[in-house]
Amino acid sequence: MDAQMTDTETLGVVGGGQLGRMLAEAAAPLGVEVVVLDPTPNCPASPVARDQIVGEFTDEEAVRELAARSDYLTYEIELADPDLLETVEAEYGVPVNPDPGTLRTIQDKLVQNQTLAEAGVPVPEFRRVDDRADLEAALDEFGYPVMLKAREGGYDGRGNVPVEDETDVDEALAEIDADGVHAVVEEFVDFEREVSVIGVEGTDESATFPLGENVHREEILRETVVPARTDDAVAERAGEVAEDVLDLLSGRGVYGIEMFETSEGEILVNEIAPRPHNSGHYTIEGALTSQFEQHARAVTGRPLGATDLRSPVASANLLGGGEERRPADHSGDDAVLSHPDASLHWYGKHEVYPLRKMGHLTVVGGRDSRDDDVDDLLRTARDLRDEVTFE
Ligand code: ADP
Repeated sequence: MDAQMTDTETLGVVGGGQLGRMLAEAAAPLGVEVVVLDPTPNCPASPVARDQIVGEFTDEEAVRELAARSDYLTYEIELADPDLLETVEAEYGVPVNPDPGTLRTIQDKLVQNQTLAEAGVPVPEFRRVDDRADLEAALDEFGYPVMLKAREGGYDGRGNVPVEDETDVDEALAEIDADGVHAVVEEFVDFEREVSVIGVEGTDESATFPLGENVHREEILRETVVPARTDDAVAERAGEVAEDVLDLLSGRGVYGIEMFETSEGEILVNEIAPRPHNSGHYTIEGALTSQFEQHARAVTGRPLGATDLRSPVASANLLGGGEERRPADHSGDDAVLSHPDASLHWYGKHEVYPLRKMGHLTVVGGRDSRDDDVDDLLRTARDLRDEVTFE
């Protein structure tokens, strides 16, 4: 295989946000150049990618141009169009990974839950909701509270509405979809903690990173600590569930597998992303191979790297604060950069608005003796995060 490789190969990526940016950075040392397709001129990936095609993720002409210029195709956003990816895969002979069929399954939260449940992968109890009667029937079964989720298009908690009691029902239905309900309702999981496994499917091999623990607020990921502060038995079980998910879904690449650990120590899969995941950003400094390098290796048919931790690690998202959309001026970088265990990542977004993912920082254990377990690492990560403020 080595002998057949050209000096530089091109990986086409639908989406050019921070995931595309970190993917392009990781792909370059492998001899893989990235071209991204993104509608926003000067998108986060564009300064580090070979080139950007400016176009919508689902624009046929733009996706065709991307396929024509690429040796391999992948996507870093679930808004890619699986039908179009299948078409260009067949017409241009460019392999698309993960499989467009996997993307189709994951785009619909009902189909995703059904696919997992049918394969015996544990998920929260769920029911399809097409109208008010369906929701009422589910409420009779599950009781309050429940989580109503739009089947398609949700991210960072948008499209999810908790229903606490009957006074919430009308508003929740209206919020999910004004023109006709297309939703899934789930039992409200009383979780002990949220955890995730970053898994990677290669050509004839697969691998999983250690279990991470995720702290969400307002349904947005704030911090990740690895290893998760749970029992070995739970971590082992989560790893097995992740392996089952990798076996079930087709296509090479990285998968972010988000799970709940219930108060009984049971693992339930919440959601799968067929791409590098925010809860895996810690792998850049914290693991022997980053999730982005793994994705680049996997989708270009290269051998996978080792997934061991270098040390315990914590990461924190740098989210936009304030009230309105404005230029992304900020301060506090020096506090992060002066810390011996910390690394800073800005995503190159020019405007900030509340809760926008602007960057992240990672604290790896080791140099500073104050950072010797995950609680300390998490505390340090939060303190440094709080130093960074947007004007
Ligand atoms: P998104 O696709 O927007 O990321 P998720 O479905 O992952 O949304 O939900 C976001 C967050 O909402 C989860 O991380 C969790 O905190 C909470 N959540 C989602 N589903 C449930 C549920 N069934 N029970 C309790 N909390 C939930």
